[in-house]
Amino acid sequence: MIDQIYRKAVLTVSGQKFVEDLVRSRGWGMAQRFVAGEDATSALQAVKELERDGILSNLDLLGEFVASPEKANEFAEKVLHLLDEAHAAGITPYVSVKLSSVGQGQDVAGMDLGLANARRIIGRAKAYGGFVCLDMEDHPRVDVTLAQFRELVREFGNGHVGTVLQSYLYRTEADRDSLDDLHPNLRIVKGAYLEPPSVAMPDKADVDAGYRRLVYAHMKAGNYVNVATHDERIVEDVKMFVLAHGTDKENFEFQMLYGIRRDLQKALAAEGYRVRAYIPYGRDWYPYFSRRIAETPRNAVFVLRGMLKG
Ligand SMILES: Cc1cc2nc3c(=O)[nH]c(=O)nc-3n(C[C@H](O)[C@H](O)[C@H](O)COP(=O)(O)OP(=O)(O)OC[C@H]3O[C@@H](n4cnc5c(N)ncnc54)[C@H](O)[C@@H]3O)c2cc1C
Repeated sequence: MIDQIYRKAVLTVSGQKFVEDLVRSRGWGMAQRFVAGEDATSALQAVKELERDGILSNLDLLGEFVASPEKANEFAEKVLHLLDEAHAAGITPYVSVKLSSVGQGQDVAGMDLGLANARRIIGRAKAYGGFVCLDMEDHPRVDVTLAQFRELVREFGNGHVGTVLQSYLYRTEADRDSLDDLHPNLRIVKGAYLEPPSVAMPDKADVDAGYRRLVYAHMKAGNYVNVATHDERIVEDVKMFVLAHGTDKENFEFQMLYGIRRDLQKALAAEGYRVRAYIPYGRDWYPYFSRRIAETPRNAVFVLRGMLKG
C-alpha cells in the first residue's frame, strides 16, 4: 500500500507543469542513468557495450502520445531510420514502440494511423530479420492495442511482433487467455502507469502474485515469454519453475531496463539465460524518467540530491 501511495504521489507531482519544466531544464544529467543518450548513435553504442557482456538489446525511441498526424508520421520515420541504422551497423533490430506515438486513435482516410505506421515499422523490421514489441500504455489503450496486435500478428506472424501485458490490471489474465490462439510473444510486466483502483490492483502482493501466474500460464501454454522485471524473488521463482517443468532456455528471456540491476542482468547472462536490456534514448525522456522515479523512493532521493547539487 505504501508503494502505491508513493507511486501515486510521484506520478501526480511529475504531471505538474512547473515540476516538468524544472526537471527538464536541470535533470538531463540524472536522466542519463536510465536513458542511453539523445540520438540513435548513442543508443547503438550502448547496444554494442551490452553485447560484450552477452546481453541483448531492445531499443526504444522515447516518445508518447502525439496529437497530430504530421508528428505521428515524423516519429514513425525516426523509428524506420533507427531500424535502417541498426541494420547498417550489423545489429538485428529489436525495437519497442508505443502505438500512441505513431498515431493510434487518429483516423486518416478511414484508417487508424497508429496501425498503418505499425505496419510500416514491422514490415521494415521483418525485412531485416528483426522484431517489434508494442509497449502497453495506460488502461484506456489496452483494448485497441490488443485488437491491433491481433491484426498485426495475423499479417506478419508472431516471430516479428509481440506485445505487453501488465499484471496490475484485473483484466489481464483473461486477456492472456484470449490471445492464446495466436501463440503470441508476450512481455509480462507489473505495470508503470497511474491507474485507478477500479481497474488496477492497489496491493503490491496481488500484483506480484498475478505476475507469477501470467508468466507460468504463458510458459505452460508453450508460448515465448519475456519475463520483464527486476524483482529478484520473481526471477528466482521463474528459474525454479523452468527447471521443474523442463522449459527450454530458448523459450523465454529475462528483460530489464537500461541502468537498472545491471549486476543481475550480467549474472543471469553468465548463467546462460537469455537477457535483454530495454534501451531508451531520445530527447523526450521526461515521462519515462518520471515512471522510473515512481518505482522506488531510492530514485527520488537520487534526483533530489542531484537537483540540490545544481
Ligand atoms: C523490459 C521492460 C519493459 C517494460 N515495458 C513496460 C510497458 O510496456 N508498459 C508498462 O506499463 N510497464 C513496462 N515496464 C515497467 C514495469 O511495468 C514496472 O514498472 C517496472 O519493471 C518495475 O517493476 P519490477 O517488475 O521491476 O518490480 P518492483 O517490485 O517494482 O521492483 C522490484 C525491485 O527492482 C528494483 N527496481 C525496480 N524498479 C526500479 C527502478 N526504477 N530503479 C531502481 N531499481 C528498481 C528494486 O530493487 C525493487 O525492489 C517495463 C519493464 C521492463 C523491465
